[in-house]
Amino acid sequence: MKQEEESKRSFISRIQLSHLYFAYVVLLAVISIILIAGARQSEHSIVYMQEITEEYAAGQDAINELMDASDYLTEQSRVFVVTGDPESGHLYQEEIEINRRRDRSLATIRDFHIDEHVITSVEKALDASNELAKTEYYAMLLAASGHGLEKDVYESFTGGAVLSEKDRKLSGADKVKKATRLVFDENYNDMKSEIRTDVADSLEQLLDKLKERQIESYEQANELFKREHILFVIVLAATFIMAILTAVMVIMPLRKSTEKIMRNEPLSTHGSSEFYCLAEAYNGMLAATRKHQEKLSYEATHDELTGLHNRKLFEQKKDELTDEDIAMLILDIDHFKEVNDTYGHETGDKVLKKVGSILSSSFRIEDYVCRIGGDEFAVIMRQMTPDLEYVVRDKINKVQEKLLPKDDLPKTTLSIGAAFSSDCGPEDNLFKLADKTLYSVKAGGRDGYAFYSELQETGYDR
Ligand code: GH3
Ligand code: MG
Repeated sequence: MKQEEESKRSFISRIQLSHLYFAYVVLLAVISIILIAGARQSEHSIVYMQEITEEYAAGQDAINELMDASDYLTEQSRVFVVTGDPESGHLYQEEIEINRRRDRSLATIRDFHIDEHVITSVEKALDASNELAKTEYYAMLLAASGHGLEKDVYESFTGGAVLSEKDRKLSGADKVKKATRLVFDENYNDMKSEIRTDVADSLEQLLDKLKERQIESYEQANELFKREHILFVIVLAATFIMAILTAVMVIMPLRKSTEKIMRNEPLSTHGSSEFYCLAEAYNGMLAATRKHQEKLSYEATHDELTGLHNRKLFEQKKDELTDEDIAMLILDIDHFKEVNDTYGHETGDKVLKKVGSILSSSFRIEDYVCRIGGDEFAVIMRQMTPDLEYVVRDKINKVQEKLLPKDDLPKTTLSIGAAFSSDCGPEDNLFKLADKTLYSVKAGGRDGYAFYSELQETGYDR
């Protein structure tokens, strides 16, 4: 039986919304964690972009500084060679020993660990610059000698260079001339170009590296954005689905159910599993309550022993049907006390049941057959006028016929008084007329019936 009920359940009524909500909450929690992690990743990404941009700027400054320092050395050495002004020589040496901008540039590039290729190019540029410094030192020594400066004046900025035998023999003017040539000739300019090329290479590599890292970082950010976008769509879709499911499976069924509860009707079980269980429980309770109510109302209007309508219903119908043409029969078992006394109360009950059963099977379904007292019965026959008296007689005859003893119960006879609503005057009461007629039958010897109209004819009614 349970299995049969289970198989009748619709697909929707098997869905447990609580399970779906649990899954939804878990999904939200997981997605929230991923989104929070993603936000942190984005933060790191932005910081990283800032860092590599700063590194690039610092690297670019350092490389340019190296070139500036190299140009400064060129300038100071040339000024000294041409003018013989020791001040330029000192400035030159100050750059080499104190300012040391070229060495610092390389140190900065190394500190940032920017890229091996960049470092190599900067090292190359520095090597070339150092190589050039040897030429510059030699040229400055030659020029110092040419300008006739004392050794202690120029010693500090000639880098320990030693003049060749051949150059030592040159005249002062030729020494200056040759020194000037050394710092201006093609050879010098080629080496200078080499430094520029190395610097340009390192700048290009630095820029390439920056772009590479920017692209890498951009791709990561893009992936992150795509992932967050997908997760956002999933959250929206899941929320939308849950809202629809809740509306279809709970809210709508609840609204319809409220109306049904107001109308005292059973609920439709169309909804989620939880709603299905609720509706089933309510419907079970409603069915039990109805059954109980029906039982109560049956008991309130029926006689327990015979199953006929009881006195209460008789009184009610009697009052309700005052505008209808009816015939009322009051029936009383003759000498019933004797039955009880002779055969016992149980047999008496059986007789009462038998009479009840005969009466209920003898009248139409729309007539009211009632037990209104101990051994007293009443029948309200509907749509009955005196011209249909023969129908009533016929019914009574049949009842009496059925009462003839065919079983081992004691012989039972009835006295019956009948009256039509048309017999009633304004002051009359139909029940009283029928009852009075019954007692005339009792008085007349019992086991028979009479109509109130007959009573009127004999004048017994007064
Ligand atoms: P009469 O012919 O004048 O009607 O005489 P009677 O003996 O039938 O007198 P009456 O109608 O006054 O008696 C009714 C009896 O019905 C009295 C009571 O003991 C009996 N009785 C009432 N209710 C029940 C019942 O539920 N079961 C049984 N077995 N007897 C009942
Ligand atoms: Mg009686």
